Amino acid sequence: MKHKYEYLVSACLCGEKVRYDGKTKTVDKIKKLVDEGKALPICPEVEGGLPVPRHPCEIKDERVINTLGEDKTHNFVKGANRTLELCNEYNIKKAILKERSPSCGSNYIYDGTFTNTLIKGQGITARLLKENGIEVISEEKF
Ligand code: SF4
Repeated sequence: MKHKYEYLVSACLCGEKVRYDGKTKTVDKIKKLVDEGKALPICPEVEGGLPVPRHPCEIKDERVINTLGEDKTHNFVKGANRTLELCNEYNIKKAILKERSPSCGSNYIYDGTFTNTLIKGQGITARLLKENGIEVISEEKF
């Protein structure tokens, strides 16, 4: 029988060094969920084929562009699809995702100008999960 997870979580919230800068953003109580086997960690950007470290990306006009001006949308879409597949495979209905990320942000993202400007919006993975009935919770509200 498949392991039963309550949550899917952004891997960078539980100690995995997968962020664009090669660092983690560990939140102890979320890491604890993983350590206890209650949460499944995934980094959609790594799943989508992007390296660590990588050039940061922001969303502009529905495309995901990095600081070199390269269009990485296909990687983000691939990672989002893989994340949704995992939720379906394990029948997971809740995801705790890292706020402000172009993949995982669920309330705020950066505006695409690389000037540290936040706008209301959501990342590619957060949006796909919500569209498919999965509850997405920001780590800031968990
Ligand atoms: S894509 Fe999500 S899990 Fe991966 S580093 Fe960014 S915020 Fe964390």
